[in-house]
Amino acid sequence: MSSAESSKNQPLEPQLRRAKRPDGRFDIQSLDQTGLQALIQGLGKERFRALQIYKWLWQRNVSSFEEMTNISKSMRVELENRASINPLEQAQVQESEDGTTKFIWRCHDGQLIESVLIPDENRANGLKPRLTLCVSTQVGCAMACSFCLTGDMGLIRNLSAGEIANQPRMVQQMLGDDRRITNIVLMGMGEPLNNYENMVVALHNMLDEDALNYSHRRITVSTVGLVPAMKRLAEETPVNIAVSLNASTEEQRQQVMPITKKYSMTQLLEACKALPLPKAKRITFEYVMMAGFNDSMDDAKRLVRLMNGIRSKVNLIPYNENPQRDIRRPSDEQVKRFQNHLVKHGVQCSVRVSRGRDISAACGQLGKI
Ligand code: SAH
Repeated sequence: MSSAESSKNQPLEPQLRRAKRPDGRFDIQSLDQTGLQALIQGLGKERFRALQIYKWLWQRNVSSFEEMTNISKSMRVELENRASINPLEQAQVQESEDGTTKFIWRCHDGQLIESVLIPDENRANGLKPRLTLCVSTQVGCAMACSFCLTGDMGLIRNLSAGEIANQPRMVQQMLGDDRRITNIVLMGMGEPLNNYENMVVALHNMLDEDALNYSHRRITVSTVGLVPAMKRLAEETPVNIAVSLNASTEEQRQQVMPITKKYSMTQLLEACKALPLPKAKRITFEYVMMAGFNDSMDDAKRLVRLMNGIRSKVNLIPYNENPQRDIRRPSDEQVKRFQNHLVKHGVQCSVRVSRGRDISAACGQLGKI
């Protein structure tokens, strides 16, 4: 995707303002290609310089302006005065027995964030193996879903656009050319749509063919269902949308997901029906199954009805147990029964095999490090 296509409707002033660091310099990776063009033209330079610099940053992985050898010395010095390159610092890498890898990064202010790399070689019916990176968008999270450990931290701060898109860039750099990340999911710490502007700039840099160059088919943004931001996302970007539904009635959802008090489940599902999705796309509904809470056959029946009229697929996530919560995962048989009921009634439904539980890298386990 070209930068023009990926940046529609985005006013530049706010992007430049947000990319400015306390020292007055621009965090250059918190700009997309269009933002970088504005910065470069503001310095009185030719427009094509922006593309050169952009590729150095996102495709050639430089960490200093010094390394940009097709840029004149004087311009490099000028850039250095006006902008800075701020990669994440790798704090730790943990490997799980099942092949999952957790990357812990230290941000410039000492905050720690996580990305999780999940290989999936054993996919059904000759499907190509996947290598999915789960990316964080905030330090902590404000949504306070009762079952999720990230919620216990509260929201500490938003990640910058640079901090978000540097996760896939830097993991790929570490992997080298032999192992390519195939899919990116914004399902790590944080609520992506609660950090909308930075997240969208990061998405542009993931999609732009002159930067990370991922297809929109391979990027998914997951949300608790911030209705207005969801609509905006569907209008402004082509990426996949996943909604954490996690309940089959309004009351049940209110009990575990406080956001339901602001946007009711009914409102959320109506908004999903009305999203301007391209023909080939469906909304994924994530449904965390908690034993004795939302895993009964009545829940399954209600869920079938809720999906009525929405181009959807359901992803069941058996709860990942942890010492901090008295919540149990349903038996495999119950999960299967639930899934079968959905499938029998025409709802596409898969079960997420959660990975990396032994290193606390599974869904809902990214908490205080
Ligand atoms: N805030 C966004 C992005 C985070 S995605 C969202 O909620 O969609 C994290 C996913 O893990 C969500 O679907 C959440 O419902 C799920 N989750 C949280 N805690 C879990 C746990 N202990 N076991 C399984 N899934 C969990």
